[in-house]
Amino acid sequence: MKTIIEPFRIKSVEPIRMTSRAEREEMLAAAQFNLFKLHADDVLIDLLTDSGTSAMSAAQWGAIMTGDESYAGAKSFYKFEAAVGDLTGFRHIIPTHQGRAAEHLLFTLIAKPGHAIPSNTHFDTTRGNIEAAGAEAIDLPIPEGRQPSLEHPFKGNIDLGALDAFLSEHGERTPAVMMTITNNAGGGQPVSLENIRGAAEIAKTHGKPFYIDGCRFAENAWFNKLREEGQGNRGIKDIVRDTFAVADGMTMSAKKDAFANIGGWLALNDDALAEAARTRLIQTEGFPTYGGLAGRDLEAIAQGLEEIIDEDYLRYRVRTNAYITERLDAMGVPVVKPAGGHAVFIDARAFLPHISPLEYPGHALACALYEEGGIRGCEIGTVMFGRKPDGSEAPAAMDLVRLAMPRRVYTQSHADYIVEVFAELTTKKDDIRGLKIVREPPMMRHFTAAFERL
Ligand SMILES: *Cc1c(COP(=O)(O)O)cnc(C)c1O
Repeated sequence: MKTIIEPFRIKSVEPIRMTSRAEREEMLAAAQFNLFKLHADDVLIDLLTDSGTSAMSAAQWGAIMTGDESYAGAKSFYKFEAAVGDLTGFRHIIPTHQGRAAEHLLFTLIAKPGHAIPSNTHFDTTRGNIEAAGAEAIDLPIPEGRQPSLEHPFKGNIDLGALDAFLSEHGERTPAVMMTITNNAGGGQPVSLENIRGAAEIAKTHGKPFYIDGCRFAENAWFNKLREEGQGNRGIKDIVRDTFAVADGMTMSAKKDAFANIGGWLALNDDALAEAARTRLIQTEGFPTYGGLAGRDLEAIAQGLEEIIDEDYLRYRVRTNAYITERLDAMGVPVVKPAGGHAVFIDARAFLPHISPLEYPGHALACALYEEGGIRGCEIGTVMFGRKPDGSEAPAAMDLVRLAMPRRVYTQSHADYIVEVFAELTTKKDDIRGLKIVREPPMMRHFTAAFERL
């Protein structure tokens, strides 16, 4: 059959509160045109993030009831440890309350002022933690990864030549090499197994440990199976194991590819580093058998890891974004191609050429999507990245809108509705106006800034 159905039945539902366009216009104005300030209840389809927003399965909710809340040595920890170990093969598995806590542990231990850490593209919390340690976060994506409309099977790849050159020149100040799969900041684009192995080999040649930010490891493995020579007949678990086999450790947000609403981990092979990480963990997160999580959260993660590698799920997951991307492309809406694993990206600067970058075309489109259809997406552009530390402003490299898909939450008719809202907006796009910022904090302004329409 050609129709890819949602590979689940729905047993528990959460109503969507319907709103009219007039109500939404009023609520957005009251929120000073900042989508982060809306009440989630006033949103019809919430595509702000795929982080922590997954629908858990009946088996996960069941496992939650069996959570062992013992302070030390809880049964739930050993189940979690076995589930992570089975997929990744790492020797030391250290639970944390989120991915960024794992990053914080790792970089406070390995990064020092003057250091530099290269990656295909660092996620923003990874960059934040590296910079907080006084080190520099270096992005070395392949050039194809920077061109939104260019088709390439593995646009998330690292530039191996650039990595080798970087390590030859800056090896002394490089404590580790990092790789983000899929490449979130680069559009949710996958990384080939060949590229992961290549980067690991280069790191090894230069004597550097190689870490994977594995938040979307299962989506990445699915793309390896679909698109990479020699992987088509292999099981997802085997591809996942091969991915981590070449790494010295990983950071993980269980809010992504573990179907959990909270959680994460740091995994390491180095005994001494793991011991230091556990010592720090006790100061900042909790005892090493719970690390800032409840026993029930560890249960939800362990069960989620069984479910995330299911091929029927991954086929549906990746297809949803590809479907929306293809439909938008066909109606002339400029999109990042091909679709990534967890989100659809619209090139708002190309869609709204009458709005100059400093009048925030991405943010203007995100606001229009909410008013027109109650859809909440996220600007990834000049509002997010345009303010420089000295307070001046410059256009970001791109002005995108990201529609991130929560896992197992929305269905085909929601996808069709999103496409229909774009069809409607396409007829009115010349009337969409830019915005100006009337109040902003000195950093991370997109979360709290107040806007006015021009
Ligand atoms: C979400 C995310 C993180 C941070 O994880 P949190 O659980 O949100 O702290 C790190 N890296 C990538 C690639 C992510 O997507």
